[in-house]
Amino acid sequence: MPEAALDFSGEAPAAQAARIADLNARYEHHGATAVLERALKDPQAGRLTLVSSFGAESVVLLHLLSMIDRSTPVLFIDTMLLFPETLAYQQELAERLNLRDVRVIRADDIALARQDPDGTLHQFDTDACCDLRKTVPLQRALAGFDGWITGRKRFQGSTRATLEFFETDGPTRIKVNPLAHWAPEDVRAYMDENRLPRHPLVARGYPSIGCAPCTSPVAAGEDPRAGRWRGQDKNECGIHIVDGKVVRRSDPMTDPVSEPTPLAANAPEPVPEPVIVTDTGFASDDWAAKAVLDLGSDTDPAAVDLGSAPGLIRIEFPSFSDGRGFSIARQLRLRGYQGRLRAKGHVIADQYTMARRSGFDEVEISADLATRQPEAQWRFRANWQVHDYQSRLRQG
Ligand code: SF4
Repeated sequence: MPEAALDFSGEAPAAQAARIADLNARYEHHGATAVLERALKDPQAGRLTLVSSFGAESVVLLHLLSMIDRSTPVLFIDTMLLFPETLAYQQELAERLNLRDVRVIRADDIALARQDPDGTLHQFDTDACCDLRKTVPLQRALAGFDGWITGRKRFQGSTRATLEFFETDGPTRIKVNPLAHWAPEDVRAYMDENRLPRHPLVARGYPSIGCAPCTSPVAAGEDPRAGRWRGQDKNECGIHIVDGKVVRRSDPMTDPVSEPTPLAANAPEPVPEPVIVTDTGFASDDWAAKAVLDLGSDTDPAAVDLGSAPGLIRIEFPSFSDGRGFSIARQLRLRGYQGRLRAKGHVIADQYTMARRSGFDEVEISADLATRQPEAQWRFRANWQVHDYQSRLRQG
């Protein structure tokens, strides 16, 4: 830690940019070890922690740190969906390098129970899953630090091609990238020369290692990160920056819901019939006279007799914060239900994307809610089609 810590809270963006430019200018001609060693002591860099996945190349930065200051906090995000080999490797490295302050970070139990109760969210919405299991826990763990040290390198892709030693991480933190200028051969040479233990999965064809469900082996000649979220338009976990800010997608379960707009005194009486929300907007119920199977939010989806189910199943949402209905919908789709699925009750516009990705075709809301959250708030809720569950089912 720097001897004289400065207070960067409330720092203006221009001041932060000037500080980062100054750090980059001062350390421009330094090597990785010098950047790391001096950044840990430099008051301009503030209080730093190292964030490590204990993945394929993590040992290099961890070894450098262990040579400089073993008591530096190291944050390890355990998504609870990692390979067992990663967990064993994390233990082994921490002991072998004598790292004295490794902090294991996990998602909050309540958030997990609400948003991913059956651990299948990654099958339907990888952004939401990374958000839940990585980005949110990391942001919470970073509170109290002015910056974090990463092992990112320029050669790792076009989005990192201009990576500097120091960069912004939103208004209150910076990132330090001591290995920014290293080439793949530098990494290999450092591991060889220091006889550092490799992650066991590297030898089995995994040059880049993330969570088990989202990582596959890579063939010769493929990009090293080709096995991450293979087949999806995704190559970062969500712990990333856009326009200088940490981007986290809106979390419909936990983000505050804006206060409903009060009705004007002379507003017309709301229509008593429920309103059906689809991708094209509001509509009246075209199924009102037909048979419906109503399921409560505590229904066991495995116990639903799909053979005799009518063409519409309606799942109750008793409160905005109760996400069990999303899980039920996913399970029914997984079991092959092809009819219409409708979410009914306390579902708000922010949850429409989640509903569609979970397999719902539509949402049934009260006329009162339709008045408070008019059609324009429901339409164009993100581009959920990118992860359209039913399209993916059809494509096999
Ligand atoms: S990498 Fe996959 S399993 Fe891991 S948090 Fe992201 S979506 Fe979930």
